[in-house]
Amino acid sequence: MPAIILDSEKIKDSVRRIMDLGGTGVLKCVQCGACSAVCPGVKAGFPVLCRMLIKKLLEGQFEELVEETSTWGCQACNRCTEVCPQGVRPQEVVFAYRRYQASELAFSSSATTSQMNLYGTGHAVFTEAGPLREKVGLPAKAPTSAYDEKAQKEIQTLLDDSPMGELGLF
Ligand code: SF4
Ligand code: SF4
Repeated sequence: MPAIILDSEKIKDSVRRIMDLGGTGVLKCVQCGACSAVCPGVKAGFPVLCRMLIKKLLEGQFEELVEETSTWGCQACNRCTEVCPQGVRPQEVVFAYRRYQASELAFSSSATTSQMNLYGTGHAVFTEAGPLREKVGLPAKAPTSAYDEKAQKEIQTLLDDSPMGELGLF
């Protein structure tokens, strides 16, 4: 593993940028690892979340992580926020870093797919379950925006006006 050279200007810049993007608690982290221990993203094999993401940012590795896909493995469950003894709110750090990645168009393919699903159906994750629903006595079409043209148009208008829309994804 290459040695990490600590550069105080780079560290200051990294901390300032992540705080400006919403990760305001980053400096309170004591690297205890409680957040990573409960993070489903880490358990699923996305290692650079919670403690590890914060460690790298506190080392000044801000731009270096731009292509890191782990951040897109965050499920926004906020278990990390609940267990952190320092009030860091690690999920906010993760989402702050995602904002930077999104501004650089550094999306993982999984993130792009979920955004496109959201635009098309109103759901980040959507599967056609008609036959399965009918099997258990439910109408084939669930009462959701996926089958409601008016709701879809409203969602698309909102997304077109959002920062995601400004990135030209849709
Ligand atoms: S909010 Fe994200 S980073 Fe925090 S525990 Fe859940 S998946 Fe992990
Ligand atoms: S639980 Fe809080 S203090 Fe501990 S590593 Fe995670 S963010 Fe840092």
